[in-house]
Amino acid sequence: MPRRAAAPTEPAPPAGAPGPRAPASAAQRALQRLGLTDDSALALHLPLRYEDLTRVTPLGQARDGDEALVEGVVLSCEVLTRLRRQLVAVVQADDGVRLTLRFFTFYPTHRQRLAVGARVRVHGELRGGWAGWSMVHPRLLAPDAALPTGLTPVYPTTAGLPQAYLRAAIQRALARLAWDETVPSAALAELPGGHARAWTLQQALRLLHQPPPDVERDALQQRTHPAWRRLAAEELLAQQLAQWQARQQRAAQRAPVLRAAPDGLPARLQAVLPFALTGAQRRVVADIAADLARAHPMHRLLQGDVGSGKTVVAALAAAVAIDAGWQCALMAPTEILAEQHFGKLVQWLEPLLQPLGRSVAWLTGAQPRAQRQAMLQAIAQGQAALVVGTHAVIQQQVVFQRLGLAIVDEQHRFGVEQRLALRGKAGADAPGLEPHLLMMSATPIPRTLAMTAFGDVDVSTLDELPPGRTPVVTKLLADTRRAQVIERIRAQVAQGRQVYWVCPLVEESEALDLRAATATHAELAAALHGVLDAHGRPVQVGLLHARLPTADKKAVMAAFARGELAVLVATTVIEVGVDVPNATLMVVEHAERFGLSQLHQLRGRVGRGSLAAACVLLYSPGQDGRLSAAARERLRAMVETHDGFEIARRDLAIRGPGEFLGARQSGLPMLRFADLQRDADLIEWAQRWAPWMWTHAPQQAQAHVQRWLGAKLDYLKA
Ligand code: ADP
Ligand code: MG
Repeated sequence: MPRRAAAPTEPAPPAGAPGPRAPASAAQRALQRLGLTDDSALALHLPLRYEDLTRVTPLGQARDGDEALVEGVVLSCEVLTRLRRQLVAVVQADDGVRLTLRFFTFYPTHRQRLAVGARVRVHGELRGGWAGWSMVHPRLLAPDAALPTGLTPVYPTTAGLPQAYLRAAIQRALARLAWDETVPSAALAELPGGHARAWTLQQALRLLHQPPPDVERDALQQRTHPAWRRLAAEELLAQQLAQWQARQQRAAQRAPVLRAAPDGLPARLQAVLPFALTGAQRRVVADIAADLARAHPMHRLLQGDVGSGKTVVAALAAAVAIDAGWQCALMAPTEILAEQHFGKLVQWLEPLLQPLGRSVAWLTGAQPRAQRQAMLQAIAQGQAALVVGTHAVIQQQVVFQRLGLAIVDEQHRFGVEQRLALRGKAGADAPGLEPHLLMMSATPIPRTLAMTAFGDVDVSTLDELPPGRTPVVTKLLADTRRAQVIERIRAQVAQGRQVYWVCPLVEESEALDLRAATATHAELAAALHGVLDAHGRPVQVGLLHARLPTADKKAVMAAFARGELAVLVATTVIEVGVDVPNATLMVVEHAERFGLSQLHQLRGRVGRGSLAAACVLLYSPGQDGRLSAAARERLRAMVETHDGFEIARRDLAIRGPGEFLGARQSGLPMLRFADLQRDADLIEWAQRWAPWMWTHAPQQAQAHVQRWLGAKLDYLKA
């Protein structure tokens, strides 16, 4: 299709709706890109914030940082090339005070509108300095138009879509919109807090798009206004309705009943374990066993802090499935982690499986073809009782004979599609059945988030660490004290202990001036040259990073696990799950660049045995000599608490739920209007009314879900 001539950069708001055959302008294409293709989508495209253009600000009473509307006459306008090329205009405001306007990008139109003697109206943030008031990149408004009577909404937009165009399109959509209420009045009557119940949805939307002059401005900006709360309530209700429905659908699905004999594999496995289960582990194992014994698919999330002992719980669950004559699959996000699991599970289970003529299989993308073929065959014929691996486990060529249980470790590393794929793999021998699903995570999910994002999942928590662990001491040090840290490493390795050193990037990046893993490796190797370990052997420093070929990665990891390497310098590939109890010191370089949960996971790599352990967080302030506020908060949280739940709560507060989970991994369209902290009372309300609605007003429930979630519904079933 031939491209149309470029549209003017600032198209005027169109007079009417474009006809179906009208050529798409740049702005229309931008609307499409944002998904604003029909009236409902436009009506639900809500302002980011509001601007007050209702009155002119007297500069005499203004304060630094105020958002201000100023009218006046241009005294001068010129292009300066001080430091940066800029257009500078001086305006004499109507109250006699002068205001300097600065533009670092500007066009001929700017100079036309700012001609000396011209009357101007500008809007922007005031900066007060020794040279008087100024504004950088103010918006130029038509000087003679009547001032609006209400606040002006500012919408999220994209290149080629001017606010005025978007605003006009939304106004037209609102005028046409005729939505009936889908929330039953009984539920509305019980809406907690505020007066949200007195509003129809349509009234709420109108207010948010066109705030009347007398609106409570703060409430509107802070989103605590009843109109915002009404939207949040609707959205949360839609989510709870969809989850309730997903739960019902799952209850209608069938799964194999998995029950172990009293003296079966689980009992025999427990008998050979080198430790007794903690109370929390026993409780969680019982939860899982009860689920597996039901004819409906389990859908359970096992959350437990790093080191809380989730692997053995997984092994016992697998043992139940195997004892009942079914297969079990365990999927881990990285090859190293999968291999660790494989090693442990082989050690625990293989002696018990061998007499039964069954085995543990191993699948990754990197294994040799012949080995892979043999594994696939063992899986298809059912001889492989347990299959451990990476994403390779869910590939199409993998056909199980009868898969009864799928376990996903570090589930937050996987996407929804991958979880769905596992559930579709019950196998030829299990027509019409779905395997049970156990997800494991070391990133605990705060309650409000669990209720919204994981409403369809049952949650078990390991809230007790195995006995004899001494808490890891966390120290925060500026990178300038590196030498001191290296001294400490010498002392540790001389006692036969092992050390992790984690770097954020693989190679020296000039731009960021990161000390790369390779450089650090060389530095540590030099510093530890000639040091002998407890057995009198010279200590070795290993290097592990993402670019290393898989076989090398494995070899390095294995050498560290066997204690042949005293120090392991690594990029974050060791982030999840590795288990080397002899490691007692974790150093994280550029700790300020890591996320809070990531840091907590890394710290969890040490303190896994009964030896005292420490975590040193090295930080390097930016060029201005300071850490960002968020970085400071993360590091402070690490020093202040070891509790994974508290860490998760703070992480959520720092990052917000969108980033915390990521739409991909929660399997949920992120909440657009509701805020889990601000609207926690509404979550409870929605949870209470969703089942009622499906029973008493199913058509409304259906319409409500469709309106708010529409096409995203499939994701909720994951
Ligand atoms: P995570 O929950 O982080 O996956 P792991 O399953 O790797 O934790 O367990 C951490 C360490 O604790 C392992 O070395 C494991 O063998 C050990 N462990 C697990 N349960 C117990 C227990 N009940 N008593 C003592 N040690 C345990
Ligand atoms: Mg683990």
